[in-house]
Formats: sequence, structure tokens, C-alpha cells
Amino acid sequence: MVGGTPIKESDIKNYPHEEWTRPFQYNVTAGTAYSKFLEGLRNGKIYGTYCSRCGQVFVPPKMYCPYCFKPVDGWVEVKDEGTVITAVISYISGTREPLKEPKVVGVIKLDVPGKEFSEHRFPGIMHYLCVDPEDVKSMKVFGMRVKARWKPANQRTGSVLDIECFEPVR
Ligand SMILES: [Zn+2]
Repeated sequence: MVGGTPIKESDIKNYPHEEWTRPFQYNVTAGTAYSKFLEGLRNGKIYGTYCSRCGQVFVPPKMYCPYCFKPVDGWVEVKDEGTVITAVISYISGTREPLKEPKVVGVIKLDVPGKEFSEHRFPGIMHYLCVDPEDVKSMKVFGMRVKARWKPANQRTGSVLDIECFEPVR
């Protein structure tokens, strides 16, 4: 067991939450931006969009800049490699189950190639980091260079989990 306070199932019941079963089924279209993003992941590429007015790069992509209230100016393929901005050790899953082994979740600022993007700002994407939780506690992970660990091409489904995690660049 690493540091922090693990959460027990009995603890989870003490937090305000709502439990309900959806009695209906529905489909949601991913839309133009997310469709291209998810299709890109299936092909081992990470696509974003950019706004030339404010210089923001959006990954996952947006079709409208939320800062300038205008359509974005185009697409950019960002690298599957970048720098860890921040990270935490998580003891619960996305669906609130306690994890046997904690996971490290981080924000990674991916490299945006091209001189035209040298001044652009990219706040980063959130994903799993395949690092030792001790590297979070010792602060070693911050600023670490990491690269996507892709699932094998024939196992990708067009999901953010087509990237298993970001692992340290060797
Ligand atoms: Zn903008």
C-alpha cells in the first residue's frame, strides 16, 4: 500500500451520490470533432483543432473556440509524446469502485509540431500514467517526458483507451 487514505466501500456510501438504473437505451452521435478524434485514435494519431485568434490548441478537438466564440481555424495532428504537467494517485475507479492497485492519472501537455504553433497554448489532456505512484509522491513525475503506449492496432476501437497509458520516454 502506498500513501494516501484508501477508500473503503462503506466510506463511499457516506458521500452524497445518486443511484438509478436507466430504463431506456439511446444512441449519441460523436459529432464532427469527436468523430475525427476517435477515428484518429483508432489509427494511432491524436488530432486537435486550433484557434488562431487566441492561440489555443484543443485536444480533444472543439469546433468552436470557447474563448473567442468563433469557429476554430483548422486541424492539427499533435505528437503522442509530451510533458507531464500534474498528476495524482487515484484509489478509486471512474465508477467509484475501490482499486486493488492505485492508478496514476495525469495531465500531459502533448507536443504540437510546426513552427506556426510555437506560440500556441495547449493546456494538456488527462490520461493514465504508467509510472510508479512513488514518482508522484517524490515529485519526480512532474515535468517527466512521456509517450503514449498504444494498444495493438487490431485491438483499437476508436476510444481514448486505445492509448493504454502514457509511459516515460526511454
Ligand atoms: Zn480562440
